[in-house]
Amino acid sequence: MRKTIVWFRQDLRLADNPALHAASRRGAVVPVYILDEDPAGHGVRAPGGASRWWLHHSLTRLGEALGGLALLRGDPETLLAGLAEQTGADAVHWNRCYEPGAIARDTAIKTALGDAGLEIKSFNGALLHEPWEVKTQGGAPYKVFTPYWRAARELEVADPLPAPKPRIALPDGIGEALEAWALLPVSPNWAEGWEAHWTPGETGAHGRLKAFLDSGLKGYGTKRDRPDLPHVSRLSPHLHHGEISPRQIWWATHRRTDRDESLTKDAEKFLSEVGWREFSYNLLFHFPDLPEKNLRDQFDGYPWRTSEADLKAWRTGMTGYPMVDAGMRELWATGYMHNRVRMIAASFLIKHLRLHWREGEAWFWDTLVDADLANNSASWQWVAGSGADAAPYFRIFNPMTQGTKFDPDGDYVRRWCPELAGLPDAHIHAPFEAPADMLSRAGVRLGETYPAPIVDHKQAREAALAGYETIKG
Ligand code: FAD
Repeated sequence: MRKTIVWFRQDLRLADNPALHAASRRGAVVPVYILDEDPAGHGVRAPGGASRWWLHHSLTRLGEALGGLALLRGDPETLLAGLAEQTGADAVHWNRCYEPGAIARDTAIKTALGDAGLEIKSFNGALLHEPWEVKTQGGAPYKVFTPYWRAARELEVADPLPAPKPRIALPDGIGEALEAWALLPVSPNWAEGWEAHWTPGETGAHGRLKAFLDSGLKGYGTKRDRPDLPHVSRLSPHLHHGEISPRQIWWATHRRTDRDESLTKDAEKFLSEVGWREFSYNLLFHFPDLPEKNLRDQFDGYPWRTSEADLKAWRTGMTGYPMVDAGMRELWATGYMHNRVRMIAASFLIKHLRLHWREGEAWFWDTLVDADLANNSASWQWVAGSGADAAPYFRIFNPMTQGTKFDPDGDYVRRWCPELAGLPDAHIHAPFEAPADMLSRAGVRLGETYPAPIVDHKQAREAALAGYETIKG
């Protein structure tokens, strides 16, 4: 019987997995996951701490569901060649990745293993549409979301594939034990309690989608901006690790609107957010420098500051601006931050503190369970104003008015900054403007129980705009 190696990467699922599906039809399957520490220097970015936590649990679930998964560590090219020899596999399948380092690696492997006589096949398991399929009439990549999504919406979305029942062909003793990779944090275990927030793995992903369609989708269009309400899907880490595919989300959402037309508008909005993910991948594919370089090079001359103290205050949620601090603490405590708050916290770092967006991108990379090279770098550049279809630099989020608008009762801030809980709603987003007796009644001592603002909003705003004036021309 023919044997095919299926190299799992960001596609840790059985259903709608084209590489696994095709391999299962071909014969027996040799499933493998490789912890790629980029020894060949292709520029593959190592997963951050929070992603490693997720990966540990997701690989456990995948191994159980498959009934066997070889765990290898090192150079994928050498390891795949060795695995083919050990198992007698004559083909290797994988689903495509779109990060520049992964493309360089996969291209090299395709050539080397192909030359060695193996049949190599890659598939689209991660996107509704390949980045090269959505082009302007002139054949150029889109740089603006709205026309991109309009064009993408014209294309057919393929039906998801069923989960195969692969015949697993793994000789005993191949690979390492997952524990040997030490993906989980130990001392300190900063991920303690994360199991209450997340269920990594394919079953958890579908549970999350169902719960969202049942109770989050209705009202998503407006309530998705409210971090105090449970109206977003929280599917991002499942999507990043490929425990669910965008095609599955697309069709499950359409099935819901077929049953209940009143959901159509909310569903359109939700799917357009999935469209932003596609757009980020489109940008990363066509502009592979996106994680490192400003897409608008005028920003190369921006007078960024450096300040370890300010960076630390931002990372630890101690800036004195409750909406920013609540977000940064939610991130640390759960590995996730609501999208609205990501925008507020990112804007604060870039504009109020004038620290480079790459500092923020790096911290998010390490701390988010959904850390994703395409989405993270595109979003940071979007907030900075240096990206393709970016928010204009001069639009500077006011953390107080953002708080009043999107966390009107202060529930989100009270949850993550409990030391402010006793303040009335009217002052919860700006404790530094509250009268002294009110602070004292609420047990808040600025600079002691909660930080005084590390920058003055008005002055910071003016300084950011002055910096922008220097590069505007
Ligand atoms: P939902 O609102 O339920 O949306 C459904 C899906 O659509 C998400 O799971 C996600 O895949 C996609 N999506 C939603 N909003 C966006 C968006 N603005 N851009 C791209 N895709 C989107 N997202 C990541 O997946 N990984 C990141 O590393 C990441 N870094 C970010 C950094 C900054 C500074 C900002 C402002 C945003 C970032 N985002 C990132 C985008 C967005 O915040 C998250 O995708 C979203 O909050 C995930 O929550 P959800 O699954 O509940 O979203």
